[in-house]
Amino acid sequence: MSMPSKPRKSNARKLLISQLSCGFLALSCAATTPERETCSPSTDIVQVAPGMYVRPGHAAVVFEGDEIANLGFIVGDRCVAIIDTGGSIAEGRALDCAIRGVTGRPVCYVINTHVHPDHLLGNAAFVRPGVEFIGHAKLPRALALRGDLYLERASAHAGHELDASNIVFPERVVAETVELDIGGRVLTLRAHDSAHTDHDLSILDSRTNTAFVGDLVFLEHLPVIDGSINGWIDELEQLSAIPLDYVVPGHGPTSARWPAAMAPTLQYLTELRAKVRAWIAKGGDLASAQATIDAPQKAQWPLVERYHERNVGAAFAELEWED
Ligand SMILES: [Zn+2]
Repeated sequence: MSMPSKPRKSNARKLLISQLSCGFLALSCAATTPERETCSPSTDIVQVAPGMYVRPGHAAVVFEGDEIANLGFIVGDRCVAIIDTGGSIAEGRALDCAIRGVTGRPVCYVINTHVHPDHLLGNAAFVRPGVEFIGHAKLPRALALRGDLYLERASAHAGHELDASNIVFPERVVAETVELDIGGRVLTLRAHDSAHTDHDLSILDSRTNTAFVGDLVFLEHLPVIDGSINGWIDELEQLSAIPLDYVVPGHGPTSARWPAAMAPTLQYLTELRAKVRAWIAKGGDLASAQATIDAPQKAQWPLVERYHERNVGAAFAELEWED
């Protein structure tokens, strides 16, 4: 079930791309996507920092809603780097069109923060010469394991069959850190240890001291554990030491102050871990844990009814083997 869209707070300038015409960029539109003669901007984007834009997502269940995750792009003097592409090729195309409403510079990189389909199934909109796809070193394995399932579920949601071309693997992977120079600004891609997933990638922009942190940070959407609760807490504690100004979370407002932005996610995970550990210590089993352990800060989290029980299960499976 889709959640209603919420108004978002931002001190940044909001660009309603739907009000812009692609006409003044018609040459570059035609040059970059000859298969599409027209560009019909249809999505909102927000400028969160100089040359940095976000397409806001809205909390919903994957394969039930659309435009769920925050997507972004960073404009360099040479070219544009995209961070996540949305839940469908249509979302990717809308993002592509929004980019061409802002700049005539070509897209050179598509960076995926992790495998989840609300972040990655728009990749196919950017398969063209000059665009390189980049992800964590463990992203290819995750895509190989889940690609078919994602196609099946995305096809059901779309109402028509999607073929394998909708799963786009990274051509370049990041095992530790990689720097990308997009012209006058350097992006530092960092591969994280198992946290939200086992292959989270964050992207720090040197010019604005702002990072896209993907689903390492959730706001306005219950955190979902698909990696390691212990690892996620450790990663957030390490990240908190980095003196960033702002981050773009994978879900929630288009930007948020750092490190305050990570506090709700860290608090939920830390309190959940304490509850599950206590349950295991007194001999409780998985089924009773899932039926009984309530969500920390339950009232503040959209989608708690869809994902909290699952989180208890993931945490239990990991923590029951601790010494
Ligand atoms: Zn995710």
